Amino acid sequence: MSFNSNNSKGMDLRQMFLRHVAQTSPSPLGIEIARAEGIHLYEPSGKAYMDLIGGISVCNTGHRHPRVVQAIKDQADRYLHVLVYGELIQSPQVRYATLLAANLPASLNSIYFTNSGAEATEGAMKLAKRATGRTEIVAFRQSYHGSTQGALSVMGDEYWRNAYRPLLPGVRHVEYNVMDSLEWITDRTACVIAETVQAERGVYAPAREWMKALRQRCEETGALLVLDEIQAGFGRTGRLWGFDHYDIVPDILLLGKALGGGMPMGAFIADRQLMWTLTGDPVLGHITTFGGHPISCAAGQASLEVLLEEKWISEVAAKEALFRQLLVHPSIRQLRSCGLLMAVEFDSFEINKQVIDNCIEKGLLTDWYLFAPQCMRIAPPLLITEEEIRQACEIILSSLTH
Ligand code: PLP
Repeated sequence: MSFNSNNSKGMDLRQMFLRHVAQTSPSPLGIEIARAEGIHLYEPSGKAYMDLIGGISVCNTGHRHPRVVQAIKDQADRYLHVLVYGELIQSPQVRYATLLAANLPASLNSIYFTNSGAEATEGAMKLAKRATGRTEIVAFRQSYHGSTQGALSVMGDEYWRNAYRPLLPGVRHVEYNVMDSLEWITDRTACVIAETVQAERGVYAPAREWMKALRQRCEETGALLVLDEIQAGFGRTGRLWGFDHYDIVPDILLLGKALGGGMPMGAFIADRQLMWTLTGDPVLGHITTFGGHPISCAAGQASLEVLLEEKWISEVAAKEALFRQLLVHPSIRQLRSCGLLMAVEFDSFEINKQVIDNCIEKGLLTDWYLFAPQCMRIAPPLLITEEEIRQACEIILSSLTH
């Protein structure tokens, strides 16, 4: 047997990154980050990047907000991990759950904290099956809910899903924002899982009437409505929650990404009576060791408090309008947006990739969307200023090759 202990001798950090940190893309960006603050990331050389994607909709309150960093330090002085989730009273969990419940509709009052968004999806599907005694799940084409096997089963894209079959049985994928799709929701459906805004499709918000009809159909058939706000939540759409735009309330809400203020965390949220299903026959209906880690909860609480105190959410619509006003060019086919979740569409992935690479060269970090590779992702920290938006748009426009 041979060991790798000396493998890294003589290698620089980039070489060690390529050799020892597992990759899932053949050509990772490979930019070394020395520091991050506000809307900027910095290389060891001091080169700054404006972060126009906010860690993929995570850093709504910016990188390392001082209140978040302080909350992390304070909690680190008290305790880190103490026991698997849900047994001991850990004040950061209790306080954050209480703050979330106070800012959610009354029926979303019981918070199960997980490690990630995908785990929240898994937990919600399990809860729906247990609570309804049904097995079928309705999901939507071009939706993304995570990369674990269960979450992958409800992912709405065959290209990304197919290599991992067999997946969960009983999942039906139907068209999003199409009235006829709702007929697939029946009294055999445990839950319908939908993103409030389809992000990875390249930002696609459904019609209000369709969302209302979806809610209504779930009520008629007894199927639970699971809304995934892992990307759309925490003010990104201009309201605290995406479903606020539609005047509906899901039975189960999925949160993640910005939930932890930059620390890893997800959550599935329901009424306490529904959530109670997980406590019996068998007990421990969902188990997680690290879900709701005290540091993540402390950071998430501080981040949400900042978001509630600052005016950023109320400024989202004006900032969105400024991006829309500035990003006009013959190469831009369309700009779809829902608040500060935006997709700039080009003719092809190749063109988009070239623009993204040019932007990165010029110190602006952006990306493409999973199911819409021809679309550039714009999802900055909500605290981005008007001047920074002008700067960012100038870089994008100067990066267009045609
Ligand atoms: N749901 C949506 C809408 C997402 O955008 C994501 C992640 O991009 C997830 C679920 C999965 O979250 P995680 O990557 O934390 O597992």
